[in-house]
Parts: sequence; C-alpha cells; structure tokens
Amino acid sequence: TSSPQPKPVQVKLVLLGEAAVGKSSLVLRFVNNEFHENKEPTIGAAFLTQKCRLEDKIIKFEIWDTAGQERFASLAPMYYRNAQAAVVAYDITKQVSCPFLHALSKTPQKHPFKPKHYIALVGNKLDLESERTVPTEEAQAYATEQGLLFTEASAKTGEYVMEVFTEIAKKIPLEQ
Ligand code: GDP
Repeated sequence: TSSPQPKPVQVKLVLLGEAAVGKSSLVLRFVNNEFHENKEPTIGAAFLTQKCRLEDKIIKFEIWDTAGQERFASLAPMYYRNAQAAVVAYDITKQVSCPFLHALSKTPQKHPFKPKHYIALVGNKLDLESERTVPTEEAQAYATEQGLLFTEASAKTGEYVMEVFTEIAKKIPLEQ
C-alpha cells in the first residue's frame, strides 16, 4: 500500500528579469514541458500553477509571469505581494544589466523579499553556449555573495529547468 500524499504547500513565485531572456519559456517548459521558438510576448500578467513533488512534501507553485517589468521599480505591488519565492532570469549570451539585480544588491532592505524567502538566479539559454558572454563563475560568485540559489538552464532543451524549481521547493519548510 502506498502512503498517503502529503498536503501540498502553496507557494507564490514571481518571475523577474529583462524582456526576452526567456522567463515565459522557462515557465512553459516547467508547466507543460513545451518550447515555442517564436513565442508571442506575454501581455499583462500570466498566472500558472505547477506542483513539485519531493520525497517528503508537495510544493504547489503559483507562478506569476509578467511583461513590461524591466525596471523593478515599475513592478505592480500586487505582482510581488506575498510572494515567497522568485526566479530572477538572465540570458547567458547577453550582458546582465538587469536593474532588478542592481536594486537587489544595493538596497536589500527595500526589496520585497525577506531573508526567509527563496530567490534563484537562473542563467537561461544554456544551449547557446557558443554565444556565451556571461561566465558561469561570475554569475555563481554573484549569487553566492547575495545568498541566492544559482542554476544555468535551457528552456529550449529543457536542461536543468526542473532543477530550478526543485531547488527552491527543497528550501520551503513543510510548515509555514
Ligand atoms: P521573456 O520575455 O523573458 O518571457 O522571454 P520569452 O520566454 O518570451 O523568450 C524570448 C525569446 O527567447 C523567444 O523567442 C524564445 O523562443 C527564446 N528562448 C527562450 N528560452 C530560450 C532558450 O533556452 N534557448 C534559446 N535558444 N532561446 C530561448
């Protein structure tokens, strides 16, 4: 007989990062295991849910993806209100100029994520290794310094996309 399934722990997760780094594609890969080469840009905000099953718990992510939030300051508060986790994405072939990252490092007291919250930095488009401009070590060092989780992934091939969400899920306590 199988043991009863644990009750899912609901976690709001927001996607952050510059336009076209592949935020929507990462979500689409995680939720539907799909990839669209010429994806239409997200209009407004999209909301999707997906469960992550670990040995001892089930985390149900409520994923908020939005367009037009290149500048962190312009993010609607409703977007990140009560968010417990975030995926901050960048494109490994583009210089990272995400003002969100800048804001995160310069004014940690102002960003909405409290220390107990879980933020993963994700270098997307790992399939474009030959066009890489952001060295892994540089991003990893930045993530370590900021206390962020770090993964490089490809929404296109699916490589390491699951890991992004699993690593966050592992950190979420059973009782909140
Ligand atoms: P968003 O604006 O950050 O949500 O980015 P999108 O998910 O809309 O993706 C922007 C463009 O990059 C689209 O043409 C995608 O097909 C492409 N893209 C997204 N992820 C990858 C990836 O991992 N590898 C490659 N080669 N292209 C990707």
